[in-house]
Amino acid sequence: MKRLFGTNGIRFILGEELNVDDIVRIGMAIGTFFKGGKCLLGRDVRKTGDIVARAIASGLMATGCDVWDVGLITTPALQFSVKNMGFDFGVMITASHNPPEYNGIKVMANDGVEIDREREKKVEEIYFKQKFSLVNWRNVGKYITCSNEEYIDTYIRAVMRHIDVDEIRRRKFTVVVDPINSVGSLTTPRLLRELNCKALTINGNLDGDFPGREPEPRLDNLEALASAVISSGADFGVAHDGDGDRALFVDERGTIYWGDKSGALIVDYYLSTHPGEVVVTPVSSSVIIEEVAKKHGGKVVYTKVGSIYVSRKMMELNAPLGVEENGGVFFGPHHPVRDGTMTTALILDILAQTGEQLSKLMSKLPTYHQAKLRYPCPNELKEKVVEILRDMTKELSAEYIDGVKIWYDKKAWVLIRPSGTEPIFRIYAEAEEEAKLNTIVNEAKRMLEEAIDEAKRKG
Ligand code: MG
Repeated sequence: MKRLFGTNGIRFILGEELNVDDIVRIGMAIGTFFKGGKCLLGRDVRKTGDIVARAIASGLMATGCDVWDVGLITTPALQFSVKNMGFDFGVMITASHNPPEYNGIKVMANDGVEIDREREKKVEEIYFKQKFSLVNWRNVGKYITCSNEEYIDTYIRAVMRHIDVDEIRRRKFTVVVDPINSVGSLTTPRLLRELNCKALTINGNLDGDFPGREPEPRLDNLEALASAVISSGADFGVAHDGDGDRALFVDERGTIYWGDKSGALIVDYYLSTHPGEVVVTPVSSSVIIEEVAKKHGGKVVYTKVGSIYVSRKMMELNAPLGVEENGGVFFGPHHPVRDGTMTTALILDILAQTGEQLSKLMSKLPTYHQAKLRYPCPNELKEKVVEILRDMTKELSAEYIDGVKIWYDKKAWVLIRPSGTEPIFRIYAEAEEEAKLNTIVNEAKRMLEEAIDEAKRKG
């Protein structure tokens, strides 16, 4: 069957992949699936945010749902509010880390976690078969606009319950935040001020063109943040994506880290007082997570790439922590969803409790060479390419939880997987030595190229 949902909700360019009338029908499909009820609706700063939010709202109301439109909010703050403030479900209008022309729709169940693949399929079926349960004019849903202030306030207070507020306040940290002109600027600087930190921001104004940088935080696009950290003498810097659920960190010397490294720091810290706990992470993560967890008698459970898989697996196993290499940390005691502001709070807590600088803490963790590459491939070929790659790697030490992951030794591996949101394959690789990493990456590129050629030939 045709798909609407990718790895993280529905993604599209308005007027190209989907039109506004399609969005209304998606709203009707979601409303039909939930059989009415009370929905919390929010969005990030994208230029199509208003039109998409209103179209979704109309579709939902046509099926009898009451829509509480909170306007601009981060995904994690909306998710927290859905769970804790009496909503039946939530809808977030965001394309997260995608470029400004994209928008997207994330659907949250009443537990504040994105619906799983099974429920996505049901929404898709209602949408494609147009089996909408529309109500008559007397019963259309209400539309209530509400201020995001109250929701963000409650959320920030909840985040603060998990950290040593007094100790952090005493330390008077300086932190530079790069919320990439989006909704992260509504939560993280606010948290920092509550914690008596000096909060400096770059790319802090709200702007749906994302003039500051691409909305996806990466090692190669956070130089401005790194310079700001150094020039202001800050304790660290934090960069979010477009909807505030990811956080990448920069230490006081300007070194930028991938999320599996900062995630490993959090795992190390949390498991030191909660030994033996389970950590959930996708197959794309560094072996650092497992090394650190094992040090404390903990166990790592691997999932497919995608926050839904991590969240749902955490809930199934009652695991307190989830980590993604892209900067997603899921802190179960607060909410098993990735949350850039909660992650920042945990880093502050670690700095306050240890009294050490971030660079020092990071230097104590194992170091590996990592590579992350994008390789273009038309969407319609992806499935075939994965099949061919599986065939090519049968004789190797490979696993197929998501895409194809080949192990060269215990600490050297490559993952080749199709992106769920873009017409590309992602290659992730890791090794102890740089030379070995380069060999692995070149081999992966060669295999992928060969597989794409073969898929094209087979048509
Ligand atoms: Mg995001």
